[in-house]
Amino acid sequence: MQIACLDLEGVLVPEIWIGVAERTGIDELRATTRDIPDYDVLMRQRLRILDEHGLGIGEFQAVIGEMEPLPGARDFLEWLKERFQVVILSDTFYEFAAPLMKQLGYPTLFCHKLSIEENGRIADYHLRQPDQKRLSVQAFHQLNFRVIAAGDSYNDTSMLSEADRGILFCPPQNVIDEFPQFPVTKDYDELRAAFLEARED
Ligand SMILES: [Mg+2]
Repeated sequence: MQIACLDLEGVLVPEIWIGVAERTGIDELRATTRDIPDYDVLMRQRLRILDEHGLGIGEFQAVIGEMEPLPGARDFLEWLKERFQVVILSDTFYEFAAPLMKQLGYPTLFCHKLSIEENGRIADYHLRQPDQKRLSVQAFHQLNFRVIAAGDSYNDTSMLSEADRGILFCPPQNVIDEFPQFPVTKDYDELRAAFLEARED
């Protein structure tokens, strides 16, 4: 009994905040945890910027609706679902991911949640739990699943370490250098091969 856990942004879809920054021309939204390591400070800044530009959830979702999954992502996900139970573990929010989940055929997604006011203003965010990627893998282990996980960046490495097998997909060089224990894949064919190699029959 095996579960495949996938990161979302950078593995199946583009980085959402970068896509929104590009489409709205608001450069400040490009900041990531690499620029502002404290996630709460980063999210408060993002929500303030959205307020300043009058971007509520409707406008935000319209922008995300123009984005598409990465080329080949849909086929890869279908392939994976035929061979494993698949759960996507992401640090995004359900309200942001919704337009992209529709394009991916609504796979199972564990992520976080926003508070939206009646007028559409994004008032606050709520993490379902801190370090949820790693804790989800732990929970699957308690349910007697073997876990193979794939992700692209720092925020995936605790999930990859907790899993029985961890795979990196198109990671930045510093992640490759810092986590040499994980095999590196550079396209969906290599990722398919890595999942097959990691699978136990
Ligand atoms: Mg990612």
